[in-house]
Amino acid sequence: MLVYADNAATTKMSQAAIDIELSLMREVFGNPSSLHSAGQRAKEVLEEARATIAECLGAEPREIYFTSGGSEADNQAIMTAVNLGARKGKKHLVSTAIEHHAILHALEAMKARGCEVTLVPVGRNGIVSAADIAEAIREDTALVTVMAANNEIGTIQPIEEIASLCKERGVIFHTDAVQAVGHIPIDVKAMNVDLLSLSAHKFHGPKGVGVLYCRRGLAPAILIEGGAQERGRRAGTENLPAIAAMARALKDACDNMAQNAVFVGGLRDRLIDGLSVIPHSVLNGDREKRLPNNVNMCFEGVEGEALLLMLDRKGIEASSGSACTSGSLDPSHVLLALGLPHEVAHGSLRLSLSEYNTPEEMDWIVEQVPLVINRLRDMSPVWEGLEDGSRPHII
Ligand SMILES: *Cc1c(COP(=O)(O)O)cnc(C)c1O
Repeated sequence: MLVYADNAATTKMSQAAIDIELSLMREVFGNPSSLHSAGQRAKEVLEEARATIAECLGAEPREIYFTSGGSEADNQAIMTAVNLGARKGKKHLVSTAIEHHAILHALEAMKARGCEVTLVPVGRNGIVSAADIAEAIREDTALVTVMAANNEIGTIQPIEEIASLCKERGVIFHTDAVQAVGHIPIDVKAMNVDLLSLSAHKFHGPKGVGVLYCRRGLAPAILIEGGAQERGRRAGTENLPAIAAMARALKDACDNMAQNAVFVGGLRDRLIDGLSVIPHSVLNGDREKRLPNNVNMCFEGVEGEALLLMLDRKGIEASSGSACTSGSLDPSHVLLALGLPHEVAHGSLRLSLSEYNTPEEMDWIVEQVPLVINRLRDMSPVWEGLEDGSRPHII
């Protein structure tokens, strides 16, 4: 059995999105900036996609800016607030310790431009408190950016509360909603969000395409100079087939959100219940305020990379953290932010699901993971020390 359980890294494109992408590649090849009929047909498709995406987010079409994905949207959002802040002498940026690297590294880069960054810690449950964010805000704060849902541990952050307090304090609020959009309800107007990032490949759309939502009245910073595409804020001929496929994937995700959440949430709970019986294991991230598709656990005395490779041999494709930290020897910054010691954080396993998974696949995972963990523990000197009492168990 082959089980793909790494949907937080990327998802398989839906057949509907593939069909649209292929048919546009064949049939609507015009440049939306061209004045002839082929160009105007392309322009129509582009604006239809923009309207569809706007509707899914509770936004207006003119507030939707197409990007090359979540990372670009995150960078553009931060630059937007930094540029605006600079004009008012505001150079303080507030975020959390568990953001995606697209945010953390972009914030770090802003230090070279004289910005000061405060990263607010999260609780043991992987959720930031709105009160802590409020306390971090200063007179010179130009931006608060807090992710809607975490990509490693699936925790859902109190975005609505944080956005409202930012509005009261006159601070721009951005949310990296890449893991949330299409999975949990998001309404930018009702939530008072100023800037939001999303990425198509996290909801069965194509890779390399995403959106920056930018509230009317705010002009996105220009990262790419050139033509007048995207209201002059993001140059370059649009990847129309991908944009239209993204719109279709998002519409399908939003139309089916409630039923998918029930189904996928059921698969998730089956996994959590089945794997929690493994001795000296712990579920990372809040049990309730959690994406329907995320399971993240640590197993003491187990090395995460070894676990992944052995699971891969059983046909189970999972992750030990985010795709970007896998391959490096440092444990995940998110797990460390929960207060887990290095040696425990190293033994992490993330299983992220989608509606394409089945209950039978969950049963296979629940059967195989304990076998693999037993084998790894049998070979581990660390586990031996834990078992003979020369090392204390932490979990
Ligand atoms: C995947 C992801 C990104 C990056 O999106 P890309 O489209 O791959 O650039 C950013 N933030 C979060 C939370 C993500 O999960």
